[in-house]
Amino acid sequence: MSYQHHLDKQIFPHALGKIVCVGRNYAEHAKELNNPVPSQPILFIKPATAAVDFSPQIAIPTRHGSCHHELEIAILIGKPLSNANESEVLDAISGIGLGLDLTLRDLQQQLKDKSHPWERAKSFDGACPLSEFIPFTKAMNLQNIDLRLEINQQVRQRGNSREMLFPIATLIAEISQWFTLNPGDVIMTGTPAGVAALQVGDQLIAELQDWLRIETNVIAKN
Ligand code: ZN
Repeated sequence: MSYQHHLDKQIFPHALGKIVCVGRNYAEHAKELNNPVPSQPILFIKPATAAVDFSPQIAIPTRHGSCHHELEIAILIGKPLSNANESEVLDAISGIGLGLDLTLRDLQQQLKDKSHPWERAKSFDGACPLSEFIPFTKAMNLQNIDLRLEINQQVRQRGNSREMLFPIATLIAEISQWFTLNPGDVIMTGTPAGVAALQVGDQLIAELQDWLRIETNVIAKN
């Protein structure tokens, strides 16, 4: 069964088209992987076939080295955006949720060493678990949103959107200069520090403010 967005407990009328992701949007995460802090957003795309439900379980590949968790704030787009400014971006956001940018880290490093694109490491089937979305309202301050990931009762990732190098509205406006965003598209806004390998059997709790709490278990992908 293919993935379908849920917004405010309802099925969202637009199918997912693409997931636009940003690399190294938190300085502390760039540092932990020994990467320079970028001067403009590092963008990549996961296809719709990468999306799966975040709960009750997620499946990770086990034959290609380590598979890292990257917990990220996910933004659901509700109106077309092209060459948009920040106020148009705010008008076009329908929902906010959580996503995992699953990354085959060893494979990504091999690809980076060869200066190859890293799609195999980040865009495989199932590489983007997405939560349900909650409705976005302008009363929400996009620059003060907490996210948190606990694995087997230990906090592994904790961040706040105020730590982003490119704030959410700025980031989406920039993305729209290059890629037209359509209703149903999702933006993954980067991960805070604390990324590490997932293990089969891990129990995850992911939280967005006090708006969303997702519990899920890690199984092996066959
Ligand atoms: Zn990421």
